[in-house]
Amino acid sequence: MANDDQFKKVISHAKEYGYVFQSSEIYDGLSAVYDYAQNGAELKKNIRDYWWKAMVQMHDNIVGIDAAIFMHPTTWKASGHVDAFNDPLIDNKDSKKRYRADVLVEDYCAKIESKIDKEITKAEKRFGDAFNKEEFVTTNHRVVRYQEKINTILKRLGKSLENEDLKDVKALIEELEIADPMTGSRNWTDVKQFNLMFGTKLGASADSAMDLYLRPETAQGIFVNFLNVQKTGRMKIPFGIAQTGKAFRNEIVARQFIFRMREFEQMEMQFFIKPGTQKEWFDYWKETRLKWHKSLGLGEDNYRFHDHEKLAHYADAATDIEFKFPFGFKELEGIHSRTDFDLKQHEEFSGKKLQYFDHEENASYTPYVLETSIGLDRMFLAVFSNALEEEELENNTTRTVLRLPAVLAPIKAAVLPLVKKDGLPEVAQKIVQDLKWDFNVDYDEKDAVGRRYRRQDANGTPFCITVDHDTLEDGTVTIRHRDSMEQSRVKIENLRDIIKNEVDVKEWLMRMN
Ligand code: ATP
Repeated sequence: MANDDQFKKVISHAKEYGYVFQSSEIYDGLSAVYDYAQNGAELKKNIRDYWWKAMVQMHDNIVGIDAAIFMHPTTWKASGHVDAFNDPLIDNKDSKKRYRADVLVEDYCAKIESKIDKEITKAEKRFGDAFNKEEFVTTNHRVVRYQEKINTILKRLGKSLENEDLKDVKALIEELEIADPMTGSRNWTDVKQFNLMFGTKLGASADSAMDLYLRPETAQGIFVNFLNVQKTGRMKIPFGIAQTGKAFRNEIVARQFIFRMREFEQMEMQFFIKPGTQKEWFDYWKETRLKWHKSLGLGEDNYRFHDHEKLAHYADAATDIEFKFPFGFKELEGIHSRTDFDLKQHEEFSGKKLQYFDHEENASYTPYVLETSIGLDRMFLAVFSNALEEEELENNTTRTVLRLPAVLAPIKAAVLPLVKKDGLPEVAQKIVQDLKWDFNVDYDEKDAVGRRYRRQDANGTPFCITVDHDTLEDGTVTIRHRDSMEQSRVKIENLRDIIKNEVDVKEWLMRMN
């Protein structure tokens, strides 16, 4: 299936099966804002819990907080967001469409990169087992030329953005003859900076109202609480503070479903360390976070690191964990070595000391910070889009199956009476009542059992439990596995253990080791 078609299928499946709805759809929706529906809210919660378990509860030296969305406005001056949280925007004069100038250039480079990929695939076919990829990409003239072109363009873009030379960004777009991807027009306006923060007001009367921002990241709620948590939790460096919560960005272009939203949720952890140890912790968290992702079994080849050449003003090293979404490899999580920038800034703007007294060193210092920051909605999209499959079956039919990792699936089991009579619904209901204490389970008695199986497959439910007439005789049921479609006969009292074995967070997280 073409990637575009696959992505459209993901979006419509998410709606049809009660995962994600357009916000305020009855009023034609609100651009880049989405609501999580009955199954989506459960899946999102399970992802959040999976992160929280691994990050907070399994680390003795990491604690979690829940800071407010509203923060004192000086926070955003100190953090640099008021002055520098900008994206360079460019409008097309003919189509009136608005784009991020840097993304237009990056997409241009991605096209050259796909030419490189094509050359590699061709050569792989030609040389077979003798193919040496590393040698090929460093010696093949065409590939080397393509790569040099990408490097030159990205270097120039990085430099222009760093120097705020927006004229040069426009000149680059013109030199590369980049056209509006929707219409092909090359009639561009100048490039302008656009601040991504949403403003609002606090207070009832117009003259005393205070200008506020909706937080564009959750990290600052952690920095301003650094000392409170360190002191009350008697935390010793190295230690981390984690939180999950909403963030808001007035994104210029937001056309990729829940990948880029204007209201979204982050799961962030700031790890406070001794200055000078940042390289070691950067490597540690790169490895640890990748292991967390891989524990979910979404496919080893679907991840790659993208180390940043152009660093944000606060960072001395940064990398993205990129995931292969239906529209290509894109950032899923950022890992940033933030130095002591944030604490020093808050110290300066608040006039309060934000230092740590190290008993071993018998000295005070401003800790350095290592950040891991992942978008919960992007993680949802990664899990959901990876799971959706049109499977060809042996009898020449297909089935739609949502192979969600069982630990994250919103509904763990559906209990189905074979028929709606002879006391079978009552037995099925009794099983539901028992299993409910441990798992989110569903009861379904409508339609033929085969159709109910298909419905649960498409919904991502790992188990179907069917109650039939034999159940009344011997207390056994049929349990059917979503992925293999295998069925076996088991005793009702064993159901809990069988399900637990497959959905237990511990079992899944142990795969990180
Ligand atoms: P991008 O380059 O895609 O705009 P970013 O580098 O600005 O992302 P960060 O500021 O590092 O993102 O935020 C950390 C994480 O938050 C990202 O890795 C991503 O998963 C998530 N995120 C950021 N912006 C959005 C958004 N508009 N919608 C959904 N998730 C987002």
